[in-house]
Amino acid sequence: MTTDRLRAVVVGGSIGGLAAAVLLRDLGWQVDVYERSTEALRHRGAGIVVLPTTERYFVERGHGRRVSLRLTYWTYVDQTGRVLSATPDGYRFGSWTTIYRSYLEAFDSDRYHLRSEMVDLILDDRRPGIVLRDGRRLHADLVVCADGVASTARGILLPDTHPVYAGYVAWRGTFPEERLSRKARELFRDAMVYQVLDHSHILVYAIHGSEPGSRLMNFVWYRNYPTGGPFEDLMTGVDGELRPSTLPPGLVRPEHLAEMRAAAEALAPPLREVVIGSNDVFIQAIFDLESPRMVFGRTILMGDAAFVARPHVAAGTAKACADAWALHETLRDAASLSDALAEWEPRQLALGRSVVERSRRMGTRSQFEGSMFPGDPEWKFGLFGPEVPG
Ligand SMILES: Cc1cc2nc3c(=O)[nH]c(=O)nc-3n(C[C@H](O)[C@H](O)[C@H](O)COP(=O)(O)OP(=O)(O)OC[C@H]3O[C@@H](n4cnc5c(N)ncnc54)[C@H](O)[C@@H]3O)c2cc1C
Repeated sequence: MTTDRLRAVVVGGSIGGLAAAVLLRDLGWQVDVYERSTEALRHRGAGIVVLPTTERYFVERGHGRRVSLRLTYWTYVDQTGRVLSATPDGYRFGSWTTIYRSYLEAFDSDRYHLRSEMVDLILDDRRPGIVLRDGRRLHADLVVCADGVASTARGILLPDTHPVYAGYVAWRGTFPEERLSRKARELFRDAMVYQVLDHSHILVYAIHGSEPGSRLMNFVWYRNYPTGGPFEDLMTGVDGELRPSTLPPGLVRPEHLAEMRAAAEALAPPLREVVIGSNDVFIQAIFDLESPRMVFGRTILMGDAAFVARPHVAAGTAKACADAWALHETLRDAASLSDALAEWEPRQLALGRSVVERSRRMGTRSQFEGSMFPGDPEWKFGLFGPEVPG
């Protein structure tokens, strides 16, 4: 279809929204991104596993350097730090901020609007739009809602569809590699390292951004907190505010930090060094979310706004980018916008359902059944099923 002069409005300027924006822009669309944050995003999740779809744009279109590093081994250790298994899987790892900034650089900065919160949708079949908090009403041919797990758009479009807390959180943080002991540096040099604990597990890996020896180490430790007291207490910060999704660095209460550091006695010494040494600790609650629809006339939901998979498959940004690539490809090849969206929706619904289901099964095994084991062959990352780069 001819897409020149078509206009898209993207709500949410994180990785999913930006991937959609650059890929629509590359088809000739006029695209504006509206992000409610007041400044360029940072600190979102520290390190992430980078599946090929997340960095496909940079690899294929040459807009920049690789945004990830490769670690050869997927290693399991026991409590003493002894290596139980090490497989040469070759997954890639990056910093959330580096990937976000790379997408931002590939987009047009004058069309990226911070301090622009969408508060309502204009659900018109031919000329939909959004209403911003300052009262502006912006119309477009297509409205792309990539506003994350707590999506305002989804609240309007699917008021009965909500994220469901999985019963556990991820404690996260980073620590400079250069401050690790020699033994720990050696373990982490070319490996992502897992330790399976009692109804819990932790992984530690280096993230992209600098040379080996001076990288940041990132930890993600999954721990159970039931609702009805423990979860709400944990997520209530030093300022007394309950944040049910993310408790940012600096806001975790001292008693919870102390409890987590005491529990770190059960960790292998190299992993413990990273956890105890980290002073930017933050907490993310784990959710499942499945939307029954993604297309509403010419308004669409994508990324975490539509489906949230638990992080065990490490596919969240890849799924958001896959939604954006599929949109690009269907718009490029279809006869009309409505044909493209009719093709896009069932494909992306099926992908969302399958990845949520697989990640839920993994989380249940680790956190509740206690059946995850070191070297577990089912425990692999991937969006379209296990994607082992080798
Ligand atoms: C513990 C943990 C570990 C993870 N590890 C990985 C990993 O290893 N690999 C991986 O690929 N993914 C990982 N993820 C998932 C990944 O972070 C998300 O899936 C991804 O960020 C989703 O991108 P998104 O653009 O859809 O949404 P988000 O990143 O949530 O962005 C939504 C954006 O919309 C903005 N917004 C919200 N409401 C409005 C509004 N009303 N108006 C305007 N703007 C608005 C927000 O400010 C935000 O910038 C992990 C997640 C967790 C919790």
